[in-house]
Amino acid sequence: MKTIHSICVYCGSSNTTKPEYLDLAARVGAQIALRGMRMVYGGGRVGLMGRAAEACHNAGGAVLGVMPRFLQNREITYEDVEHRMVDTMHERKIAMFNESDAFLVLPGGIGTLEEAIEMLSWQRLDLHDKPIVFLCEDGFWDPLFQLLDHTIETRLTPPSFRDMLLAANSVEAAFEAIEMRVPA
Ligand code: AMP
Repeated sequence: MKTIHSICVYCGSSNTTKPEYLDLAARVGAQIALRGMRMVYGGGRVGLMGRAAEACHNAGGAVLGVMPRFLQNREITYEDVEHRMVDTMHERKIAMFNESDAFLVLPGGIGTLEEAIEMLSWQRLDLHDKPIVFLCEDGFWDPLFQLLDHTIETRLTPPSFRDMLLAANSVEAAFEAIEMRVPA
């Protein structure tokens, strides 16, 4: 079985979301460090992304942030960890994809959705088979799964797409789901 070295975390940049989501991000970051994996993410200090990266770094884990230059003030580049500056959102996303063996999607807004859906759509096109796990402890992702189900029921997406959707309602379950799905 292939080992997971790097795990990409997609999550919200909001500081004013529910404290439970910020706490979840911190537990995920610490868990990545504990498991000896590297965390790959968007490179900022704000919101869930900042919490996860700080927790991973503080627990001794390796972190790679990928920050578009035009966002460095808005998202506050986390300078204490390895970070790569890029020019565009597309460069950020391809770097995060190339550097990662799996994707963990935490609660987030439109940016998180965009990143996660792109990885699902690339998987559907057989461009990769890296596991993508949606993690929440309170049903946050249920409306997204309902929408995706709706596209299956209306025969816009094949039923086999359901197999690609991995969901976890605890940090432990999320890592188990990733490890079970990792390609040989
Ligand atoms: P949000 O979930 O909206 O708080 O955004 C989470 C992260 O996704 C932030 O770092 C955004 O800069 C990033 N993001 C938003 N849109 C894109 C995009 N099109 N490509 C790459 N990253 C994005």
